[in-house]
Amino acid sequence: MRKPLMAGNWKMNKTIPEAVAMVKELKGKIADVKDVDVLLCPTFTAISALATEAKGTNINIGAQDIFWEAKGAFTGEIAPNMLVDAGCSYVIIGHSERRQYFGETNETVNKKVKAALAIGLIPVVCVGETLQERETNVTFKVIESQVREGLKDLSKEEAAKIVIAYEPVWAIGTGKTATPDQAQEVHAFIRKVYSEMYGTAAQEVRILYGGSVKPENVSELMKKEDIDGGLVGGASLKADSFEALVKFSK
Ligand code: PEP
Repeated sequence: MRKPLMAGNWKMNKTIPEAVAMVKELKGKIADVKDVDVLLCPTFTAISALATEAKGTNINIGAQDIFWEAKGAFTGEIAPNMLVDAGCSYVIIGHSERRQYFGETNETVNKKVKAALAIGLIPVVCVGETLQERETNVTFKVIESQVREGLKDLSKEEAAKIVIAYEPVWAIGTGKTATPDQAQEVHAFIRKVYSEMYGTAAQEVRILYGGSVKPENVSELMKKEDIDGGLVGGASLKADSFEALVKFSK
């Protein structure tokens, strides 16, 4: 049985006091939730304060990116052990905004995934097609190379531990959600490709859906066999809506 994971990607939002205030509000509201893993990914600057505020609760803290080198002359980058030091247990890798604006490729994703696993962080690896790719019928080809290249050369144990997030780029921040059937079709495809790569680890890996997930559509998405949770942007920024997502009805 795969335990659902509800993850908030705060992107470049919230100052440290704003981030801490939301966790103060959220932690009581979801304290009794045991059957869903909860993750919040704030900006780098808020990680440490948030980890302190979330200590002893069921809220895990993650980063939105990582660098693969351990230390040295890499101005502006953050090393894997620095994320652990600040209180992270997860890290988002290869988000479409990083692929689009910051030159992230399947090759850099793979280096980051390995660096994260080596230090004990759980990578949340994002894949997804653009609107143009969907309209020209190359969705499955694009997703397959993102999975095969971005997640290559892992051990079976590592392969089972990671989280994959399917985020159609056309659905991120646009208000357009993939229908539950559209999402399920891609999730099942990802699990099939992953089983060709890593055998039974494909049954353990959690595959999240991301793209305008909100309290109104979460339950329908979560009913699908291969959807194991959500990676949520906009609707994760307020305690009330994130609480509703974490407590989606089964
Ligand atoms: C995201 O940030 O990964 C995302 C899916 O954003 P939104 O939920 O706002 O579409």
